[in-house]
Amino acid sequence: MLTLIKKITLGATLLAASATSQALNIFACEPEWKALAAEIAPDANIYAATTSHQDPHHVQARPSLIAQFRRADLAICSGAELEVGWLPMLQMKANNRELRTGQPGMFFAAEAVETLDQLERVDRSMGDVHAAGNPHFHLSPSRVELVAEELTKRLSLIDSANQATYEQNLNNFLTRWTAATSEWEARAEILKGSNYIAYHSSFRYLFDWLSMQQIGDLEPQPGLPPTPAHLASLIELSRNEQVAAIVYTGYQDGRGAQWLSERTNVEQVQLAYTASDAHPSLFDVYEALIDELERIHND
Ligand SMILES: [Zn+2]
Repeated sequence: MLTLIKKITLGATLLAASATSQALNIFACEPEWKALAAEIAPDANIYAATTSHQDPHHVQARPSLIAQFRRADLAICSGAELEVGWLPMLQMKANNRELRTGQPGMFFAAEAVETLDQLERVDRSMGDVHAAGNPHFHLSPSRVELVAEELTKRLSLIDSANQATYEQNLNNFLTRWTAATSEWEARAEILKGSNYIAYHSSFRYLFDWLSMQQIGDLEPQPGLPPTPAHLASLIELSRNEQVAAIVYTGYQDGRGAQWLSERTNVEQVQLAYTASDAHPSLFDVYEALIDELERIHND
């Protein structure tokens, strides 16, 4: 009898051990979603397809990415056509049934939010535009909340044994996120109405959130590098308007911003844009952003 109980106990222990060692594999198209996934599923193996120095619009579907995508239980990507140039190829080559578009494992964050700047009609002359609206919405705190909620639902569907843990992690995240957002908003009061020249529409949601304005774009058309004629028009713009700074992300070429800065005396700054070694969590990214914008304002 005793032996039987021992055997049962041993069996249960082994079962529990194998269950916990079976960590979920998550594939994140962008570092911001890796950071968010780490809040909700800290025990998962989370792989980011891109770093803060890589342009998420243009990625090579290389073998290492295909291998990661093949073994993933869930993929989280911005969607709204941000990855349209490379993700379909990755899905096809990896042939992971769980990550086909429409499966719960293939989570496009844009499906959980309302994007800004959706276009009715698009033609090629408009450049590399985002017809489904701006997909760079991780700098919108309210949208991050919506994505976190939907991510929790997806995780719970795929890994129902840990649903309670995911929900607890979500609640914990939302509590800290809401409190931090109020603090950032209070600090950013002084930034209301300030003008910036930026690269692409990368900071669209940040500006929208904090009532700041992008009055010029280093790109003459979305996806195209600055041309001399376009930069000349931005010099003109800087003469007529008060510009707080020329800003760009870690994956954009800073030379246009530097060129313009030298000719206008407007400061050029590479802003924190997404999670990185320096700013591992979304809290760190936002904190660094507000710090830097405050510094620009006070200079
Ligand atoms: Zn874009």
